[in-house]
Amino acid sequence: MPTNDTYVGRILQVLADDPARTVLTWQHGSLTAGAFTTAVRTAAGVLHRHSGDRAPVVAILTTTNSPATLLLRYAANLIGATAVHLHTTNAVDPEDRLTSDAELALLAETGATVLAVDAEHLAAARELTAHLAQPPILAALGDLGPGVLDLSAGADTDPPEVPIPPDRAAVISCTSGTTGRPKGIAVDFRTRNGFITAGLQMAWRAVYLATLPMSHSSGATADDSLASGGSVVLHQGFDAGEVLRAVAEHRITRLLISPPQLYRLMDHPEAASADLSSISMLCYTGAPASPARLAEAVERFGDVLIQIYGTSEAGAIGMLTPAEHRDPDLRATVGRVLAGEVRIRDPHDHRDLPTGEAGEICVRSPFAMREYLGDPELTARTVRDGWVHTGDLGRLDERGYIHLSGRLADVVKTNGIKIHPTTVEHALTAHPGVLQAAAFGVPDADLVEQLHAAVVLRDGAAAATVPALREHLAAALSPQHVPAVIDVHPELPLTATGKPDRARLAADARR
Ligand code: AMP
Repeated sequence: MPTNDTYVGRILQVLADDPARTVLTWQHGSLTAGAFTTAVRTAAGVLHRHSGDRAPVVAILTTTNSPATLLLRYAANLIGATAVHLHTTNAVDPEDRLTSDAELALLAETGATVLAVDAEHLAAARELTAHLAQPPILAALGDLGPGVLDLSAGADTDPPEVPIPPDRAAVISCTSGTTGRPKGIAVDFRTRNGFITAGLQMAWRAVYLATLPMSHSSGATADDSLASGGSVVLHQGFDAGEVLRAVAEHRITRLLISPPQLYRLMDHPEAASADLSSISMLCYTGAPASPARLAEAVERFGDVLIQIYGTSEAGAIGMLTPAEHRDPDLRATVGRVLAGEVRIRDPHDHRDLPTGEAGEICVRSPFAMREYLGDPELTARTVRDGWVHTGDLGRLDERGYIHLSGRLADVVKTNGIKIHPTTVEHALTAHPGVLQAAAFGVPDADLVEQLHAAVVLRDGAAAATVPALREHLAAALSPQHVPAVIDVHPELPLTATGKPDRARLAADARR
């Protein structure tokens, strides 16, 4: 079966070894390697025939952890087209949606020529296209009626012979960003093709249970697992009980979850009796993990814990291996540099700092993004001379372990998304009853960062109750922007320069 050199082409080659093997399982069904390959190649063929000489830009608006999300990306990338994930931000919950304004902006900025949907999102897609001067054509992996190109109706064809420029964007997905507006992050074919190298070299077949959104790093983990000759089980989000049951049922070998989800897994009443013997890679990432809870996790799960430290922009940066998890000192680090190079730089004058000194973590790595879509200024500020400035503060020790100590900006990372306090403060003060507001992050007992807000209310503002402010924020921003705690203060403490003293408020809240 001729195929091409993209990561998708190489995965299809691996799948060709055993067409009858089940490679994708979800709540309502499963696909064998043969059926999976036919679906990808047919969709790729139809897309290619409809696009003439220019590779299309395929926006994907589907239930995030559905088979369609994976098949559509593969079909697009197999013919060198850019796949744009329209549905989710980089959150822990695949249901977490971008606003329709953000979806429209992404469609316009990427010049999407095709909007690929599933039945559940057809109405939303029609609504989006109605707002665009040059609307993309609608397409789906099946017959969704008139006006929707059926990507499943056609002959399974060989991918085109056209060379695919390695610096073309392969996948664009959205980070929630540090301001209210989500940013598209483009990763090129060279980088994306490289993601499966470890999988191709793996001596065993990974069976991956995907609970984090497939539009983000969970999708790359799925690719890597398929490249290892393994398979993927899709869950629509994380439910500890369901994960424990699925591990036993499917003999899952690999998980990718966040630290709070790791705690939920080990705190679940069924955890003690569940058969978890198949797990060989329990990866967690995305937020600081509590060293004390990691000690418990090692006792519970054994030598299978892998911590990944990374950012949307830089990709994976550091890794703490299962053996290193046995060392209490190392459990307070995020591991050693995984790929590329890390330097610690002075946040003010950007000079390299000596080993042991704390500064901004800067990374030069093959996993780094190409650009922020449509924002050359921010790209230039974030990627300088090939070094991604992560905004994380930390140091490298003598042995090369990375110790994180906080973030440069006051960004709060909660529920898997990054929230800039200013966004929340502005939304709060837009409420007629609120005079002043400060938002800040406070780690809870498990070191999980929670968003807090302190507000000063206008005299007699009876309508500005805490539940009313919560509702106001959910409507103005999103449910993820609603702080875990909103406290009413008579006045806010100020810094020497007269700004609300977020650090002091956070310290007071910790007591
Ligand atoms: P995102 O770009 O949404 O993936 O968020 C990246 C940020 O999450 C990083 O800049 C860190 O602040 C944080 N982060 C990611 N992985 C870890 C980790 N293993 N330990 C601590 N913080 C992490």
